[in-house]
Parts: sequence; C-alpha cells; structure tokens
Amino acid sequence: MSKNRKGKVYLVGAGPGDPALITVRGKYLLERAEVVVYDYLASPKLLTHVSKDAELIYAGKKGGVKHTHTQEEINQMLVDAAESGKTVVRLKGGDPFIFGRGGEEVEVLFDAGVDFEVVPGVTSATAAATYAGIPITHRDYTASVAFMTGHEDPTKPDSNIDWAKLATGAGTLVVYMGIKNLPIIVDNLVSHGRDPKTPVAVVRWASTPKQRTVVGTLETIIDIVREAGVRPPALIIVGEVVTLRKKIDWFEKRPLFGKRIVVTRTREQASELMAGLEEAGGNCVEYSTIKIEPVDSYEVLDGELDRLEEYHWILFTSLNAVKYFFERLYAKGMDARNMKGPCLAVVGKATGDLLQEYGVRADLLPEVFTGEGLAESLLDQGVEGRNVLIPRAEKAREILPETLRGAGAQVTVAPVYRNVSPEGKREQLRAELESGKVDMVTFTSSSTVRNFLSMVDAENDSDLKRLMHNVTIAAIGPITAKTVTDNGLTVDILPDVYTIPEMVHAVMEYYSM
Ligand code: SAH
Repeated sequence: MSKNRKGKVYLVGAGPGDPALITVRGKYLLERAEVVVYDYLASPKLLTHVSKDAELIYAGKKGGVKHTHTQEEINQMLVDAAESGKTVVRLKGGDPFIFGRGGEEVEVLFDAGVDFEVVPGVTSATAAATYAGIPITHRDYTASVAFMTGHEDPTKPDSNIDWAKLATGAGTLVVYMGIKNLPIIVDNLVSHGRDPKTPVAVVRWASTPKQRTVVGTLETIIDIVREAGVRPPALIIVGEVVTLRKKIDWFEKRPLFGKRIVVTRTREQASELMAGLEEAGGNCVEYSTIKIEPVDSYEVLDGELDRLEEYHWILFTSLNAVKYFFERLYAKGMDARNMKGPCLAVVGKATGDLLQEYGVRADLLPEVFTGEGLAESLLDQGVEGRNVLIPRAEKAREILPETLRGAGAQVTVAPVYRNVSPEGKREQLRAELESGKVDMVTFTSSSTVRNFLSMVDAENDSDLKRLMHNVTIAAIGPITAKTVTDNGLTVDILPDVYTIPEMVHAVMEYYSM
C-alpha cells in the first residue's frame, strides 16, 4: 500500500436485514473496500460482496450483551485504517444516521482529518412497517410519523424525549430499541394522552426469514410481547395504521414463509431452485457438493502395496476407499491378482458390491454396517498379532483402528482420498438436523441424495431416520426419489413434471394444503 495514498472511510447503511436491501452504491463500495468494519445488525450475507483480500473486522454491538469493541476502539480503528491509506467501509445496520451512532463516528473522522462519505440505508423502521404490512403513513389515518429511541431511561429527569408532545403529536410512532422499556414507553404514551386503544405492532428481525410480528393495543401489548417472548432486535409501531396489516400483510403470508429448507446441490446446478423457493418465502440454506479428491501424497499406501502379502486383513470402510485404493494399485502396475494374500472386509453391502466390480470378493461383511459393527465382527475372528491395512479418507473416525489396536492388532491407516467440503459445513448440517430446525430437504439428482447422506454421516439407518423424522423430502423425479427410498427414507413431494420450476410449484402446493 502506498504510504502517500489517502485513505477514506465510507459509512454505509447495510439495510434492515435482508441483504438484498442494501443500496447499489453500498454494494459497489463493499466490493472495493480494503477494510470492512461491520455490525451485529448488518446481514453477514453482505460480506459475500467483499473481496477476498479485504480485512474483515466485527465490531459487535448487541443490545445488552458485552460489546466486542467499545465505541472509542471502533472510532480509532476507522481512523487508523484510513490513515494507513486504506479504503474502509464502515457497514452499519439500517441507516447509519438513524440511531446508529453514525453521526458520532463521522465527527471523529472529521476531527482526525480523515476523508469520509455516508451512504444511506433502508432503516429498520420503514422496513419493519413495510414487511409487516403497515404503511407508516396513509392519507386516511395519519400525515406524520416520528422515529424515537426507547433505549434512554424515560424516567430520567433530563430525558430528551418530550413525551407530552410526542404522545399525541405524531400520528404514527416508531420506537427503536424499545423492547426492554416497553412498559415505561406505554405508560408514558397513555399518561400523556394517547388513547389506550391505539393499535400497536411489534416486529422482530424485520425483513428476514426470522421475522415475527405481534399486534395489540397500548392496553394489551405488554402482555402480548411478554407471552410471545419477543426479544430485541424489534421495533414498536404505534398508530391507527397498524390496523391495515389485516389487509396488507404480504411478507409473512408468502407460502413458504418461516420454512427452513435445505438445498443440496451439485456444483453444476444453478441456484434456480433456491431462488424459486426464496421467492416464495422459504428460508433456504445451501449445502453444496462435497468434492472427493485424491490425497497429495500416496507415500504410505505405496509402501504398504509393496508388502501386501504381509497383511492379514484389508478393511474398506467406504466406496471411495475402494475406488482410490484400486486406482493406486493399478497406477503401480498391480491388479486384483496382487490381492490374493490378505482377507478383505467391507463396512457394508454397497462397498462389497463395488469391491466385486474390481474383481475381488469380500471375506467379511459385518452384521451392523458401521465402523463399530465392522470392528466387532473382526474381534469375533480374533485380531491379536494380525496386520491390518485400512485405506480410507484422510480425516475419518478413529474408532475402528483404535478398537483393533486395543485388541492387539498391528494397524496401518493409509489415507487414499479426502473430502473437500466448506469448513464446518458437515457439523453445521448435522447440528441443524439434530436441533429439529429443518422443515424440508430438496433433492434434484441422485448424487445430491448421496452427497447429503455422506454429509449427514449417520451412524446407521435408525440414526438417519431419527435425524430425518420431521423433515419433509422433495425429489425432482422418480430416479432421485428411488435413491431416497433405497436409503430408507420417504419422499413426500414429487412433481408431475421433472423440472425445477415444477418442483418449486409442488413444494408451494404441499404447504398450502
Ligand atoms: N441504524 C439502524 C438502527 C440501529 S439501533 C437502522 O436504521 O435501522 C438498533 C435497533 O434498531 C434495534 O434495537 C431495533 O429496535 C432496530 N432494528 C434494527 N434492525 C431491525 C430489524 N431487522 N428488525 C427489527 N428491528 C430492528
């Protein structure tokens, strides 16, 4: 970075939550930023616009929770980065100048002589109202709206809020950061003359798939919010316009609203399916293909292939282990005839079938098709002093080699392939299924089914059934459906015509039944 280059800080409004609600200008700046300092309320999906080389700094700020950085630290970070010549985007939830301390940050930049620009954003008040089906102004109801903070202690004597004027002064009131103080806010409004029958809406996580809206009146809203357990971030909208929600609520009424849908797709497939489901309100999470790759070095296996006849057992615990083992065997000019010494064991039937395609037969198939099952069957045979070779994935469970070693076997693990999947994705998928959050899984080809299953990595059939117990399964066509049923699961949705648009349509119909 040139020392003489002048840096600049762009305060950018991230919009209310839906990452599509950032401005074109905001996205442009994100793509060019060298440093991005972002908040709790800015959608993490916006970070996908940021260049790979940019530095990302999370500034935290979650109401009530310990702040990751103090405001002074954030200010200093912005100044330092700009002074080192960097282009900095300070990404702030909603609009930077509406209850976002944007003004304070810019003042600091001004005082430090740092160049800056501010890009407005869709503030959560208008987004929450719009996405809850409430026009914040309407000719028949109100001609004015006031935004206020509910965060300051309304009982303090030097309050900045003039309750007497505000309570009846504006037709619609929108309160930011007011959930904790809701009872005090309501009390202040009513005691200063606002009709207790005035309709109130509280909207949480507006414009996101997590959006939740509750409606009442000044009289009832405290109980309603308490009973519904509504927590921040939420906005309170007070005024007659709230009644229009009955007609205008459109966002939460979309057919797939609130449905968590796992989309497994292979690299080649466009995200047409996700786009279609999301248009209908679905909350999609994508798990793309795991890629299987050869390992960088076959040193271990190569050494063992030279002394194959010394082995008593070779254990194959997956299809890929068979495939990559034989590829290497062939590459060394060897073939099935070199396999006649050791006994062969496989983890399950499919692995045994594949082995046979390579010209050799399994000597042992466990009763239970898991690593544990295989270990148990081998222990029954007695493994003490036996040489056991396990060609397998680079990263795999250690239960099989450990159990065998514990029983006195000489075990050599030879990595022959590896799973390349985005960091942590497997664990994430597993955790989502465990927590029962997933409503549906979609399959658009047999390989997406197999991918999904290998990512879920269920212990056995009953573990898989348990994980998928309340999950609806949509398959694009009969072949894909057969792969699903072959794996012991049931298909709930199958379109008449096997295309993505028809599949989206079938999913929508399923949920409108
Ligand atoms: N600058 C932001 C507001 C920051 S103050 C803006 O223009 O929207 C933080 C408060 O904003 C939260 O306590 C909550 O009251 C409100 N808020 C922000 N995002 C929200 C969302 N998606 N849904 C509901 N309220 C939200």
